Amino acid sequence: MSLIVQKFGGTSVANSERINAVADRVKKYVDNGHQVVVVVSAMSGETNKLLKLISEVNSKPDPRESDVILSTGEQVTIGLTALAIQERGIKAKSYTGSQVKILTDNAHSKARIINIGTENIQKDLNNGFVLVIAGFQGADEQGNITTLGRGGSDTTAVAIAAALNADECQIYTDVDGIYTTDPRVVKNAKRLKSITFEEMLEMASLGSKVLQLRSVEFAGKYKVNLRVLSSFEEEGEGTIITYEEDHKMEDPIISGIAFNRDEAKVTVESIPDTPGIAYQILGPIADQNIDVDMIIQNIGHDGLNDFTFTVNTTELNKTLDILEAMKEKLGAKKIIGDPKVAKLSLVGVGMRSHVGVASKMFRTLSEEGINISTISTSEIKISILIEKESLDSAVQALHKAFNLDQ
Ligand code: ADP
Ligand code: ASP
Ligand code: MG
Repeated sequence: MSLIVQKFGGTSVANSERINAVADRVKKYVDNGHQVVVVVSAMSGETNKLLKLISEVNSKPDPRESDVILSTGEQVTIGLTALAIQERGIKAKSYTGSQVKILTDNAHSKARIINIGTENIQKDLNNGFVLVIAGFQGADEQGNITTLGRGGSDTTAVAIAAALNADECQIYTDVDGIYTTDPRVVKNAKRLKSITFEEMLEMASLGSKVLQLRSVEFAGKYKVNLRVLSSFEEEGEGTIITYEEDHKMEDPIISGIAFNRDEAKVTVESIPDTPGIAYQILGPIADQNIDVDMIIQNIGHDGLNDFTFTVNTTELNKTLDILEAMKEKLGAKKIIGDPKVAKLSLVGVGMRSHVGVASKMFRTLSEEGINISTISTSEIKISILIEKESLDSAVQALHKAFNLDQ
């Protein structure tokens, strides 16, 4: 007997037919003698619908109230899924995040899980129940409902798997595994049988929304056996995340291409070249809990520099407001926000032992007439900023140039 955590995303619980399919799958596992914990998302489109409703009644919504509203999507699907499982003669019980006791910090809309109380759910598991747990939500010390950020149900599932020491955490979605790149953009993208934890971490942090970044971080920290599969297929091995560092000579140089369309570029123009300036700019932004991504300081002339970084497009206006308020203190000439950029990244552990990846990337893009505005590299990835409108053709050209379709 194994303990399996199965997470079903929005399209996998989109309607009663899909929820019945989830219940059928759960039954198959229970019939084979496994203990099952199910984690579900809201029905697809539901979280967006709730966000729209919020924006229609308040232009600067109180994050506490937003989380109260956003968490309702998952509350509907846990109840429905538990009922569908019961209909098949199996004991099932739904749990909201706070009923489980998923304790988070109080950073509404992007809360982090601090602890999971397993006492209640362990008891129910021992008594033969299938547990159906709401993804994406928890509660802080005061009992306020919190949400874990978009795609947060992945993190709930992996965290529950870690807390219960599950044998496997299966993430069911609308594709049958992790691909060399988003199959919606490159039709002949290839499914990977496995991907290293490090590569998956990069892919997720660089924009591949198939797994939320924090879920991968959790998986690495607790060495959770993590597999991504399709809820639309009966069988299929999907993609497993591996932890061993057993690289062979024939490792592909590039494993995948990740991209993020939600990136916005911020430039603080002509600031004095003095010690502490980066901290003066980024400190107040971090204080507002805004994540800063690519950071580049361009050496200018006359002792003046340009300082450029990226943030999520949803946080561009807030960032610009903060900087405008400090403009004089910084001695900056101009603050510019550009939401029309996208970040594209090549990822692969094979890059460690190969040179020339960057030059091949730049040559391919130059042949496509695509302009690169910003570049950043690390041991296993190269990221660039380009115009949003050239993103799809850039991804397609690079996918081909690096033989990812072979
Ligand atoms: P869910 O609602 O099940 O959580 P998501 O929409 O969050 O599903 O994630 C699945 C989607 O991720 C796929 O439909 C696909 O378009 C996208 N995706 C992006 N990059 C990749 C990749 N490298 N491999 C597979 N899917 C990817
Ligand atoms: N329902 C939430 C979202 O749409 C969480 C999730 O699906 O993982 O982002
Ligand atoms: Mg998702």
